[in-house]
Amino acid sequence: MEYIKKNLEKIEQHLSHQNITLVGVTKTWPVSELEKFYALGYRDFGENKVQELLEKIPQLPKDIRWHFIGHLQRNKVKDVIDKVHLIHSLDSLRLAKEIEKEGRKKNCIVNALVQVNIAGEESKFGLQEQEVLSFLEEVSSYPHLKIKGLMTIPPNVKNPEENRSFFANLYNLYVDIAKKSIDNVDMSILSMGMSNDYTVAIEEGATMVRIGTGIFGSRKYSN
Ligand SMILES: *Cc1c(COP(=O)(O)O)cnc(C)c1O
Repeated sequence: MEYIKKNLEKIEQHLSHQNITLVGVTKTWPVSELEKFYALGYRDFGENKVQELLEKIPQLPKDIRWHFIGHLQRNKVKDVIDKVHLIHSLDSLRLAKEIEKEGRKKNCIVNALVQVNIAGEESKFGLQEQEVLSFLEEVSSYPHLKIKGLMTIPPNVKNPEENRSFFANLYNLYVDIAKKSIDNVDMSILSMGMSNDYTVAIEEGATMVRIGTGIFGSRKYSN
């Protein structure tokens, strides 16, 4: 527990006074590690694989807010939508349609962030910046999908300063969309920043950061 506590104390110095939500990214870690994070008072947990998420949920307290942060396949939508607090990775209209369809069946409203491929990387999921507005206008008529904001995963760089302009661009997009007051679209969450670059992301306007390695240490296998 000690190292997790120490790591969190350091992170908290950057979050304090700013109302930023810390999502602890618990992917690949066993339930025993998640329990330590929970015992320190944290309730926002991020996972990126449906199967792993579904295995962990029943083993942990019910007041955890689960964040789904990985690419979500359409055939898995029905398995997670009534179990997660927020999907960070809404990355296509086809996925939005599936969420609306399954949300209607289960009679639940699904909260989601639109994932934006802000650096236009070939290898990344997410909408291109210029596609976001028309996407939002389309999904604003979906009663079972509630858009809460935007999310991005910027390039994996050594020096986080290299990502500053991407974070700033996403923030500008977030503010521009908020000004348009689209029905059923809320711009209240800007999810950006990971272990390596969260301080820069916060300086550029993040309201939610997703940190794994910086809390739990390096993962034994990639995920
Ligand atoms: C793994 C992951 C993180 C956390 O990454 P760290 O570098 O370990 O902090 C954040 N966001 C997403 C989408 C991830 O997949």
